[in-house]
Amino acid sequence: MRGAFAQSLRMRVLALTLGAFVAVGIPGLVAFSWIVESTTEKLSTLFAERQILYDRYRGLGPLAREVALADTLARSPAIIEWARDETSPGRTKRGIDELEHFRTSFRDGSYFVAMAGSGDYYYNDAEASFDRAQLRYRLSRANPDDAWFYDTLAKGPGCRLNVNNDRALKVTNVWINCVVFEGGEPLAVLGTGIDLTSFIDEIVTTDQPGVESIFVDASGAIQAIREESRIDFASLTKEAADRKTVFNMLDDTQSKAKLGDMMANLLDGKTPAASGFLMVGGKRLLVGVGYLDRLDWFNVTLMDVDTIVGKRMFAPIGGLIALLMLAAAGLITFLFKRSVLDRLALAETSLERIESGDFPPAIKAGHRDEIGRLTHALNRMAAAVRDNTSKLEDTVRQRTEQLERMAYLDPMTGIANRRGFAEAFADEHHRAVTTGGTVGLLLLDVDLFKSINDSRGHQAGDEVIIEVARRISEAGGKDEICARWGGDEFVVMVRGCTPETIADTGRKVLDALRSRAIRLSDGTGIRITTSIGAHIADDDDTLSAAAAKADVALYEAKRAGRNRVVLFDRKRHQRDGQPKVA
Ligand code: GH3
Ligand code: MG
Repeated sequence: MRGAFAQSLRMRVLALTLGAFVAVGIPGLVAFSWIVESTTEKLSTLFAERQILYDRYRGLGPLAREVALADTLARSPAIIEWARDETSPGRTKRGIDELEHFRTSFRDGSYFVAMAGSGDYYYNDAEASFDRAQLRYRLSRANPDDAWFYDTLAKGPGCRLNVNNDRALKVTNVWINCVVFEGGEPLAVLGTGIDLTSFIDEIVTTDQPGVESIFVDASGAIQAIREESRIDFASLTKEAADRKTVFNMLDDTQSKAKLGDMMANLLDGKTPAASGFLMVGGKRLLVGVGYLDRLDWFNVTLMDVDTIVGKRMFAPIGGLIALLMLAAAGLITFLFKRSVLDRLALAETSLERIESGDFPPAIKAGHRDEIGRLTHALNRMAAAVRDNTSKLEDTVRQRTEQLERMAYLDPMTGIANRRGFAEAFADEHHRAVTTGGTVGLLLLDVDLFKSINDSRGHQAGDEVIIEVARRISEAGGKDEICARWGGDEFVVMVRGCTPETIADTGRKVLDALRSRAIRLSDGTGIRITTSIGAHIADDDDTLSAAAAKADVALYEAKRAGRNRVVLFDRKRHQRDGQPKVA
């Protein structure tokens, strides 16, 4: 992997691009989460306040109407007059008539009135079961069941709600208790009851997940909630410490204080609804509060924002952003590949071809940017390398030819050496054998050459060898090829010869060498003679075999007194090894 990274710019750019996106993406994700969070909270808050107002008007309209009706009844002069003088039959009749008149208007069709003076309790229900017998019983301070009455009287003018629950009937009732007041003195408590069961079903039991509606009284005591066991029944007659309040549902004092503040602000009429995040049962819930002034209740809505809004609905946006970032990374890599990598790869392949000696045509440079300029430079370099290489190749070829020539020539005399002669002989001998022709050799050795070296010096010896070579070449003409065989020995190839013509040629050479003195560089001259062994090559002769036979003849010439041509005589040689002297 490291190797791939080190070798591939594409991998590195891809990794860097992804790294950059991660570096940008993490703060982006944090910011995105924050935006989601705050948007969710804002939306939820809006939702909470709407929900509160909606709850208020939806369910509490009828309840408020009952309260208003009871309040009107409590202010009725007929009731006040009766309460002031309970014993007057006329006032009692008018009072009961007034109650009966209102009874049918109450939703429940029932009413009650309890007199402060006597404690007499009057009641009639929807079926008018107690017509002319509305006086049911007498309340007593001694009876704890009647505490609600004395507590209500003590609270002064106005209407109060008291929630009660009949566990046996599974019915929740709210009692509307209004105080009949006159001249600073409470005279009676009257009102009606209302079955809250359906109300709770409708309002509190919302089927919206994550939302819980609660109704609490001014002290926070729970009056209506989905879970009936949490309702604070008969709040009116309880000590504050014994009440089941909404505050008890909150986890910490901070949340409690905040809810208290919200409720206080609503009481001041500053806002119709308030909301805030509070800790409930270990969760951070959005709590909305509204004030129901007619009932002196608050409706409290607990909302689990995560359930209601569901952050998952932002997932497609997040996914889209991530997808766009990936696409951008892909696009950048693709464009980088096209505008940089592909062009670099082209240059790289081109360089590899140049390296291997194959000169590709110039690469198209494309844009005149950095890579374009690099490509131009590469093309120029390739052209220069190509030119230099071809020049170098020419020079090498010339030098090689020169060396080859030198390998076949004797450097001192400039005529062929033994190797050069061997090639010419092989060609000629092959031709002679195939065409039925002949080729002969004259092997020539300067007589007593050592004595020239000894008496005139080595330099003089060299000059003699050079002159010998020149005269042999001259004498032989175009048809004969001569070479230096080594030392003071030379060889001449004679084409298409007979024993007679080869001997003639030998003699011609002898004459050319001995006829006149050789001029030396010191101005003196020197005369030489040579001995020649001649042989017409047999078909199966190699050069060395033919030369050895010529050498036998040369040896014979030397032995016979030098300065002569001796033709190799096979028969004689076979008989007594003596070559024939020509
Ligand atoms: P012979 O008649 O028997 O041939 O007597 P010779 O003195 O010529 O004897 P031989 O051919 O054996 O001697 C050859 C001498 O030539 C020996 C060597 O010192 C001399 N020599 C060979 N090559 C060169 C050369 O390139 N330059 C000079 N100056 N001398 C050479
Ligand atoms: Mg010699």
